[in-house]
Formats: sequence, structure tokens, C-alpha cells
Amino acid sequence: MSDQSYSEGLTTRILHADRRAGAEHGAVHKPMHSSSQYAFEDAQSLTAVFQGQPGFSYARQGTPTTAWLERKLTLMENAQGSVVFSTGMAALAALFTTLLKAGDHVVASQNIFGNTNSLFGTLRQLGVEVTLVDATDARNLEAALQDNTRLLFVETIANPGTQVADLIKIGELAKAHQLLYVVDSTLTTPWLLQGRDINASLVVHSLSKHIAGQAQALGGVVIDTGCFDWEAYDNILPTYRQGNPAQWGLTQIRKKGLRDMGATLAAEPAHRISLGAETMALRLARGCDNAMALAQMLEVHPGVQSVAYPGLASHAQHERATTLFGGRYGTLLSFVIKPELDCLDVLNRLKIAILATHLGDTRTLCLPAALTIYHEMGPAMRAQMGISDNLIRVSVGIEDEQDLLRDFSNALEN
Ligand SMILES: *Cc1c(COP(=O)(O)O)cnc(C)c1O
Repeated sequence: MSDQSYSEGLTTRILHADRRAGAEHGAVHKPMHSSSQYAFEDAQSLTAVFQGQPGFSYARQGTPTTAWLERKLTLMENAQGSVVFSTGMAALAALFTTLLKAGDHVVASQNIFGNTNSLFGTLRQLGVEVTLVDATDARNLEAALQDNTRLLFVETIANPGTQVADLIKIGELAKAHQLLYVVDSTLTTPWLLQGRDINASLVVHSLSKHIAGQAQALGGVVIDTGCFDWEAYDNILPTYRQGNPAQWGLTQIRKKGLRDMGATLAAEPAHRISLGAETMALRLARGCDNAMALAQMLEVHPGVQSVAYPGLASHAQHERATTLFGGRYGTLLSFVIKPELDCLDVLNRLKIAILATHLGDTRTLCLPAALTIYHEMGPAMRAQMGISDNLIRVSVGIEDEQDLLRDFSNALEN
């Protein structure tokens, strides 16, 4: 996709995307199309859409509203195309089930979102092998490669431990072995990281987090950076091996993913995600500053045993994070409370930060990770992921910094 607005900054591009593409009456937003079907002028146009021409037919396969959101997300990631889904998990499920088959092998990071870990369990039942390794060192992925390895999967900053994957070297590894490199960049967003700078083939975002922001819509996206040679990927079905090879991967994900699983993003949340994207960089800038201030305060607090935040010099991948994310470190941190303090009591004393499982909201959210989102995983896997019972995960919001710091220091007083 060539577009002169690529020379502009991310926020400028998002703000003016709809208007520049033309909206009726000088509107600054594209309208919301809630129609579930689209009629054709003549039989030729009808058959053409079914045979691969761009257009809309039945809204499960997308609407003008989702198409405009996709265009915006493609601009944000400086990429070549996108497909949106009803949630981040739907995007991941569509990607893996349409691009993998029984007998294939995936090498993935062991420090991944709990629900993605659960999805890997489902893939194993369907005959896909999945090996989990410590992705902070690309050599661990290299050592796990097999003849049937098709795909590498990592998250940019891991949740809740905030480990930063060896993103550049994994990109080189993927290139050397012609492997599909899938990166879940939900915690970094296109503002901290552009997938094509690390040679990612596909980038996934949960739009429910920072991009929509404000905990007001669910959505997910798969973005094709244009870095991958789809002609080398055996699992593209003959029907989709037509036309420009650069489109093959996304076409298969879109056609099969939306058709077979039906997790289509509705027009209304698509529109709200589009609005949220306009302020994403502003919200993130403030959230990243707050997270840094909170991490620094917690690190020297007598009630705290350790803090994990990539912005701290004590973080094992601090330098890597600085190089990759341009001096911003995201809004997620976790800390371990000293054993003499009761983790649940501390949480109960918070007055501003709320107890909730989401992340990337404008409000600060906390939870005891081992007892909640990682409970079902069991103690052995938790130990492997370094999630202790006293670990609190914090998604830092955009509250006034002093209020936030005071809330946490009050809660830690005993
Ligand atoms: C939340 C999240 C997802 C799943 O997104 P949903 O929109 O909640 O389905 C996937 N990956 C990461 C890293 C997430 O934080």
C-alpha cells in the first residue's frame, strides 16, 4: 500500500484518515454501516465479489466500517494490510487455525497471555505440536526448531513478568529458516514498536486494550507487515494462491477465519475502536510516565521485594527495551510483596486503583496474578513462568501521578 501520509506521525495519520478518504457532508468520521447484507447493481458485480474482487456481500465477511478500521490499523503499523475480529483471542484463533494444520510445529514463548496458552492446548488437541521456550534469548527458539516447524510466536513484553523477547534476533532466525514470525504486540502497540522493524510477518493486537482504550470495546486484529514471502508457505490453499502473493496470507486468514469461526467485529465496536485510536498515543504517553514513576517508587519501598518493569535499570532486558521501544516502556508492571504483608490485604486497601483483570485502560487496574488469571494453569507452570503467590500485576492508567503514588504507598503501609 503506498500512501503519502506514511511520512507523517502516527497520530496525524489516524486523525485525518477518514476525512482524507472522503466522508459525506465533510464529516470527520466515516459513517457506521450496520447493514448485514449488501446488494449488487447487476449479476456480474455479484459474481465478481464472490470470485475475489473487493466488495461487501454478507457482513460476517466484513463491512465498510470494519474495512475503514482495518485501513487505519494498517496505517498505524506502516504495514500492507489488516483483518479485524471481534476480540484479540478471535484474531489469534483465526490466525493459528487457518495457517496451521495437524503435524505442524510451533515454537512459542513460555511467557504468554494465559488465554493464548489455553489456545495452544486446543491446537495440541487438533494435532499441532507446540514447544514453549524462554524467548528472551533467540537461541532457545533456534534449539527447539524441528523439520516441521512452521511458525514462531512471541509477545513483545510478557505479562505479568514484563520479560522483553529477543525480538530482533528472533526476526533474523525466522528469516534464515523461512518461518512465519507472529508477534503479539498488544502491550507495545504500534506506538512503541512497528512489527516490520523486527521482521515480524504478522502482528496481532488486542484492540480491547490500548487501541480502543478506556475499557469500552472488544476487538482484535491481524496485520501483515509485508515482510514474509507467502509463496514459501505450504499451508496456503490452492484457491488463495492466486493474484499478488503478498496478499495470500491475509486473504486466507480473512476468508477462512471469518467464514469458519464467524468472530466478526460488529460495526458499532469497530467505530468506537476507531475513535479510541485517535487518542492512543496521548493516553500511552501519560500511562508510560505514570508506570515509570510507580515502578521507581515501589522499587525502594520497604514492603516490596521486587519490581518488574522494563523501564527500570534493574530489569534484565532494560537496554533491549530502550533500543526497541524508543525510550517508552509500556504501562504494565508487576511487583512482589514481602511475605510479612498479606497480598490480598494490600489490594483491599487501594482506593484509586481498581481490582480488575483488564489492561490498557485509562484507569489503574490491579490483581493478584497467581490467584486469578494464572490460577487454572497450576503451580508447576506458574513456577516456570516465575509467578509467585505474592505477585501483583498492575496496568497503570492515566490518573494524576501523585494520587496514584499515594494510593500505593498508603496500601503498603501496615
Ligand atoms: C488481552 C490480550 C489478548 C486477548 O485479547 P481479547 O481482546 O481480550 O480477546 C491477547 N494477547 C494479549 C497480550 C492480551 O493482553
